[in-house]
Amino acid sequence: MLISKCVTIYIHNLLSSIYHMNIITIIFYISLFYFFIFFLYIILYKSNFLSTTKITTPDQALEELIRGNKKYNSILNFFIKANRKSVATIQRPFAIVLSCSDSRVPTEIIFNQMNLGSLFIIRNAGNVVDGVVLGSIEYGVEQLGAILVIVLGHERCGAITATIDSILERKPEQSGHIKDIINALTPAAHKILGEHNLKEPISEYLKTEIIHQVVKENVKLIIQDLANHSEIINKALLLNKIKVVGAFYDLDDGNVHII
Ligand SMILES: [Zn+2]
Repeated sequence: MLISKCVTIYIHNLLSSIYHMNIITIIFYISLFYFFIFFLYIILYKSNFLSTTKITTPDQALEELIRGNKKYNSILNFFIKANRKSVATIQRPFAIVLSCSDSRVPTEIIFNQMNLGSLFIIRNAGNVVDGVVLGSIEYGVEQLGAILVIVLGHERCGAITATIDSILERKPEQSGHIKDIINALTPAAHKILGEHNLKEPISEYLKTEIIHQVVKENVKLIIQDLANHSEIINKALLLNKIKVVGAFYDLDDGNVHII
């Protein structure tokens, strides 16, 4: 009874003070309210800042992804809904990115291209090129009309590191099809290792520097391969329909450097 009386008095006082406010003050408080709601929305639905889930089993991993999809598809994620509708039946990405599968290099995030339909992305360990990758890039250029191709290597690439370790016989030969990745990255590694007069053991500092150089060399070799092995890409380049560039992503500061 007492609580109900207090609430009634509080609401009465609140309405009375709103009634006596001028229009500017009311607009200010309404704006403040909407800003607060928007801020809350960003925190809860657009970031994983509050997520502290430890994922240790495949079922938990699947659950986390399903939960993520529900957030993505939530009615509160109103920006993406309109975006999805606009590209549901046709895609016209403006750029193709060939990058590494490394979980720290999520292409859309590092280029801040969160709109659906912006980027046509091909990712694999070491951003290597084979027939399927080449065909995917050709499809992006010829069928989808993309006008820029970026080959993106990155700092501390695990695939490049494994290749260097394999060449220097630091570790046993890789199993399964991982060998295919090593084989694809070996030309770039051989070129850079050949430029250094290496005497075992090499320092960690030198190894880091070599990895850095091999990543960049691999990007350069891939760019040459694209033009040399694809008539579609070569023709588009000659007609100035596309541009092909190499780039390097810094894991520490988040910058993408054009090579
Ligand atoms: Zn990598």
